[in-house]
Amino acid sequence: MKILVFIETDNGAVHTSSWEALGKALSLSDDVSAVVIGQNVGDVSAQAGARGARTVYVIDDASRATFDLDLYTADVKAVLAASDADAFLAIHTGNGRDLAAAVGADLNAGFVADCLDLRLDDDTLVGTRPIYSGNILADAKTSSHPQIATLRPRAATAAADTGASAEVVTMSPTAAESRVQVLAVEHAQTGEISLTDANIIVSGGRGVAKDPELGFKIIGELADTLRAAVGASRAAVDAGYIEYKHQVGQTGKVVRPDLYIACGISGAVQHLAGMGASKLIVVINKDSEAPIFSVANYGIVGDLFEVVPAMNSAAQSKLHKA
Ligand SMILES: Cc1cc2nc3c(=O)[nH]c(=O)nc-3n(C[C@H](O)[C@H](O)[C@H](O)COP(=O)(O)OP(=O)(O)OC[C@H]3O[C@@H](n4cnc5c(N)ncnc54)[C@H](O)[C@@H]3O)c2cc1C
Repeated sequence: MKILVFIETDNGAVHTSSWEALGKALSLSDDVSAVVIGQNVGDVSAQAGARGARTVYVIDDASRATFDLDLYTADVKAVLAASDADAFLAIHTGNGRDLAAAVGADLNAGFVADCLDLRLDDDTLVGTRPIYSGNILADAKTSSHPQIATLRPRAATAAADTGASAEVVTMSPTAAESRVQVLAVEHAQTGEISLTDANIIVSGGRGVAKDPELGFKIIGELADTLRAAVGASRAAVDAGYIEYKHQVGQTGKVVRPDLYIACGISGAVQHLAGMGASKLIVVINKDSEAPIFSVANYGIVGDLFEVVPAMNSAAQSKLHKA
């Protein structure tokens, strides 16, 4: 099976989860190509080859500097035609899932989104994906050509840099009209760890209500100690305690860190939909009956305003930072 993997870039820099999509593709097939679209993406293209793509299709142009769904969809369709790939795989970021869906719609091809795993069944890609807000895992496949799937960030091991080199096919940007006008691009603050890339997330909920500022301050301090990202429930976001970009859940980010620490979050199904697949879940809640304890590996019944600072100083002394 020939698999084409979308390597997502932003401002010439790779979205590192793309290497996970490449790693998964390489575990399924030895005929894997990559497509890199952007501006000044020469290094990323070389990396794609070094990490095992047999052929790297590159569209490097100022008009592709920022993600544009119309233009990128046209480019990917051109690369799919040139490569005759059987499957197209992207990482399930905001851009990756938009792109996969648009390519699928234009080509009348089936799309299995947000897979936690992928396998091959008689040359058909089978995706294991959460449904019903993560309560059930379903296997889904499509018989279309190409087959299209997205893989949730942190669901697979990144393709390693083996120092290999690929055939590089440089293509011109496809002539296409864009209905999008990019007015401004706002980048995350330097040093801020993105939720979807984080190994560790410390999240706060409405449980911080008695002093939201202090609550998210101590949550932020624990996150700093653990080099973690800060997450939040929708209740915390809706109450204005923290910005939307931190929201985890059905209408926020879907995350899969190695460790998720939930502080003062009750565990509504819409929150669990975003973090239930985390590898290790630690819960701090003063109500021992809170539903979130049902998904916890470790639970602490207590007041987060006491427990979180205590965890932080314990973590600091363990990490010799005190
Ligand atoms: C269509 C739809 C989409 C939604 N999408 C999302 C989503 O993406 N993400 C999301 O999170 N929610 C989402 N929700 C909202 C969701 O249903 C819940 O309302 C929300 O998750 C509750 O947030 P919470 O757990 O912080 O608040 P609560 O449910 O109010 O829970 C607060 C918890 O804090 C505990 N607590 C209180 N004080 C302390 C303390 N001092 N120390 C320790 N614990 C304490 C309480 O015991 C309680 O368990 C959505 C809802 C709908 C209808």
